Amino acid sequence: MRALLPAACALCGTVQDETVCAGCAEELLAPLPRCRCCARPLGRAAGPGNAPICSQCRYEPPPFDATLALGDYASPQDGTVLALKFGGVLPLADWLAGELASRWQAASATCGLTLPDVLAPIPLSPRRLAERGFNQSWEIARPLARRLGVRAAPTLLARLRDTPAQATLDLAARQANLQDAFGLGPGHDVAGLHVGLVDDVMTSGATLGEAARVLKAHGATRVTLLVALRTP
Ligand SMILES: [Zn+2]
Ligand SMILES: [Zn+2]
Repeated sequence: MRALLPAACALCGTVQDETVCAGCAEELLAPLPRCRCCARPLGRAAGPGNAPICSQCRYEPPPFDATLALGDYASPQDGTVLALKFGGVLPLADWLAGELASRWQAASATCGLTLPDVLAPIPLSPRRLAERGFNQSWEIARPLARRLGVRAAPTLLARLRDTPAQATLDLAARQANLQDAFGLGPGHDVAGLHVGLVDDVMTSGATLGEAARVLKAHGATRVTLLVALRTP
């Protein structure tokens, strides 16, 4: 069906056959040297391939072990996430999952990434899920798990309480805001597992860090983050 219908690129509006046109995809996907642990851009000094770690992660290792990000949360590529989340353009979730899967294949060869045992999305609060009608993280995680050949568990993590939007808070308030925000979903056991956590955007890393901390507290041996975009 899709092959019969021309589509407008979700970023630039050019009418062609893909969800995102080749030109925009190339701009979005220009790989940058990033911290292996948190995916912060490392600047040109760090050569690609040797996958070093940023000074912040070296001095204060976060609760997660590795992060894979497609690009920076900046214009124009932030349009992919914004259109998915606020415009309900669900094909973009599948597109982002495909790009993440390709990036994973490339990165696993050079950076020694190992496949998680299970992929889980960062859950939305029930209130926000009801407002939006879908969890964008799950919409990315489901096709990504299929492409990587990994089990997906939508309820692995549960929101234990509603929290104000992180974007409205400074870093200290973000961390306090997240206290007891997540727990293990009913019936789940992560002891001895390598968990892949999927989210659309990683900003300060506080939310993903807290989710990773909870998983480790329940016995997860390793947590790898797979995020579409990362605040530089
Ligand atoms: Zn385009
Ligand atoms: Zn780092």
